[in-house]
This record gives sequence, structure tokens and C-alpha cells, in this order.
Amino acid sequence: MSITRISPTAIAKASRCLHSWYLKCYGDPLEKREPDAGLLLLFERGIEHERECVSSLKDVVEPEWDGKDYDAGLQSTITLMKESTPWIYQGVLVNESAVGFPDLLKKTPGSSTLGNYTYVPIDVKGHKQVTKKDRYQLLGYASLLESVLGYRPAEAGIWLNTGEIAKVDLGIDAEDFETLFSHMDRIRKGAFVTEGYRCGECGTCEWVDHCFSVWEQNDSVCLLYGVSGAMAQRFTGAGFASWKDVAQSSPPEIANQAQITPKRAQACWLHACARAKGSPQIVTPTDFPSDVPLHFYDIETFGKCVYLHGNIRLFQGKREEKQFFARDPSQEKEAWHQYLDYLARDKEAIVYCWADYERGFAKTLWEKHSGNPAGWRHLEENLIDQCKFVKSHFALPVYSYSIKHVAPVFGFSWSADDAGGLNSEAWYKAWLETKDEVIFQKILRYNLDDVLAMEVIDRELRKVDS
Ligand code: SF4
Repeated sequence: MSITRISPTAIAKASRCLHSWYLKCYGDPLEKREPDAGLLLLFERGIEHERECVSSLKDVVEPEWDGKDYDAGLQSTITLMKESTPWIYQGVLVNESAVGFPDLLKKTPGSSTLGNYTYVPIDVKGHKQVTKKDRYQLLGYASLLESVLGYRPAEAGIWLNTGEIAKVDLGIDAEDFETLFSHMDRIRKGAFVTEGYRCGECGTCEWVDHCFSVWEQNDSVCLLYGVSGAMAQRFTGAGFASWKDVAQSSPPEIANQAQITPKRAQACWLHACARAKGSPQIVTPTDFPSDVPLHFYDIETFGKCVYLHGNIRLFQGKREEKQFFARDPSQEKEAWHQYLDYLARDKEAIVYCWADYERGFAKTLWEKHSGNPAGWRHLEENLIDQCKFVKSHFALPVYSYSIKHVAPVFGFSWSADDAGGLNSEAWYKAWLETKDEVIFQKILRYNLDDVLAMEVIDRELRKVDS
């Protein structure tokens, strides 16, 4: 039997996917995915941000303990509370079933077993708005504070990246929290087994390889685009546990049994057929533009800085690859101007980007640095989201329309195993620090691969259309 204690961080994650807790208790640690360079960069930024916030406070004290003996850590935290410490950093809260380390405990007016003051938990986050996960994490700390304060705090705070400490009413989710906590407790005691359903949490989950291998083995319905979380559970309950079941059915039957709209049933069925046949299915026929120069465009960013513009131009059988690189963030303007000058050589052009990531950055670059108006006109008037275009005309055998999933359908693969936007940021950071030529080439290659992927998708889908 697992005796893993429940942490507020695990509660937050379980509020999105209870199976993550099951795997934490019983999964094979060897199946966990190691964080890549991009994820490590995110952690690093999170820690830096937390340190900045904490260093802006006066009278912050950290409990003294050896990092192992939780009871000693708790006693040290309680001593600081009894001494009326205004802010406690990384206090230790523990009981029989749970353990947690709130970023901050803030002394506030009120009544508790400590006297005429009390404490509320505050967590530092790198996002702009309080999320459901944040609320569940705070509820976890609040429940641990109950035995220390003599009551459970009904209010807590999230220190957002806007600088604001947002007040959080813990009453909103209190009932659902109790249910979740009881499920987690039963799981850790071996009394409850869960299944995984693909959800928004999977992208950053260490168990993602394990879960996908299970879904692949079972031809799970989770592998269909648009069928995740509660929808995947609904499909399973309606007798469509596998995408093969969906492909062998019909849209009216799926709509009827899974109680979904005919439009949605049609989309799911087409995606299942795409999987069964291993090829794209046409959703609505389309004409591909061919009488103007086509540009496939991808940027790389580092924080708010755009440090690389990659482009492939196709027209009348001619093809050109170009990249405009800022060798440090101060050269952002120069690289942007070079790119606009390049685009301006065409009187008319269509520029494709993937999932519109480039649009917001291009607008900001124009407002910050202006540049060649003829080049900007193509971006302002003729920037097309290729991902949206593909999704509206084709159903592909994928569960996600990320370019990393779509391009391999057409046999394309990235040169780097760890290709990814966040990793590219980490590589640029390493390049700035070392000016290592190998890293520089890796960055250029990754960016070019992204643009090549777009070109391949366009070329192959034209064949389906014809
Ligand atoms: S990969 Fe997804 S389904 Fe599996 S445990 Fe993680 S969040 Fe849950």
C-alpha cells in the first residue's frame, strides 16, 4: 500500500486529472518523462520570479529545519507564527495524510489559537489570473492550517505576475475540494483505481509517455482530435472506448449514443476515419492559392524579444529559404527591418504562419520599430493562420493540430529530438551566454525545420485536394 502524503501541488494537478495522483502513488518512476531544456527554463524563471517577489518584502523569515524531518519543520513554522512573524517563507505544514510548503504565510488581523491574529497562505505564480488549480492548491494549504490555527482559513492569496496579490475566496470550491481530497485519500490507500483521459494537463505532465503508450495500445478514443477529458469519458460510457469503434459507427449513431451535436459527431467520425485509413479526410473542399508568392513564416522568441524570423518563399517553381537573426536582443529591430524589406520585394504575397503565434508579435514589432510599409502590408493584410485553414478543410489522423503532430502525418520530422519553442528559448539563452556555434546552428536548423514543416503540409494537402 502506498503511504504517499498528499501535497497541495498534487491536489492542484489532480483537480485537472485525478489519474496523475494515481500514477504518483503507483506509477513506475522509470516511465516518467524528464523535464527538457524548455521546461527547466520555465522552472528557473518561476524560481527567479518567486525570489524577486519575496525579496521585495520586509520581515520575511524561513523556518529552520533539515528538509527531512517534517515534524521539526512544522514546529519551527509554528514557533515563527507564535513569535508573530509578519511573513513566513516556505513554512512547513504537515499532518497524517498531507504535507505542503506554502510559498508564503502572511500574518493578518483575526482570531486564531495563536491570539488576535492569524495567517493566510499566499502562493507566487507566473501568470496573470487566478486559476482553478491555484484555488485547489490554496485549499490544500488551508486544510493543513486548520490544526495550527484552530479553524480553516476561508481566504488566501495568489501573487500574480502583474504584481497584484489577488484575494481568493476559498468557499467557492470547498465542497468539490472535499470530494477530490477524499478520492485522493482512497487512491493512496489502495481503495480506488483511476484511468487516464487526455486533457489540457497532459502537455506538461511527467506521465505523458506512459499514458500515450496505454492509449496507443488500446486504440483509445482519447487519440481523436476533439475527444478529451469529459468528452472522452462520455464516448467511453457510450460504447466508443476506441477510435475504431467510432470509425465503424456513423455520425447519426455517434450523435445519438454520445449525446453530442451532429456537427461534432461528424467531425469525430471523420477524424476516426482519417486514423483508420491513415490519410487526411476532406471536411470541406478548398482551392489553394497559386497565383501569388507564398511565404511560410515562423519566428523564435526569447521572453518578449523576437530574435529570429525564418521564411520560405515559393513562386512560379522557385524556392528561397531566408532567416533574419538578432545576435542579441538589442538587434531585434534590425532583424525585423531586414525581414520587412525582404517581404517588400513582392508586390502581392500571402504569408502563412502556424496557429497565429506570429500575428501578435508582428503587430508589437511594428508598433515598436515600424519599418518598410510595403513589407508590413503583407503581414497586416495577408497573414493566414495555416493551422486554422488546415483544420477547417481537412480531418487528419492526429489528436492535436500542433505543427509537431501535423507535419509527421506527411512523413516530416525535425532534426532535433528535443525540438520545441520553449527549448529554442533555452538554446538562445545558452547562445547568449556562450556564443557557441553549435548552439547557433541548432537554433537556425530548428527554426528552418518549422518553416519546412509548413511547406510540406501545404504541398501534401494540395495533392489530397486534387
Ligand atoms: S498524461 Fe494526462 S492523463 Fe496521464 S496522468 Fe498526466 S495529465 Fe493525466
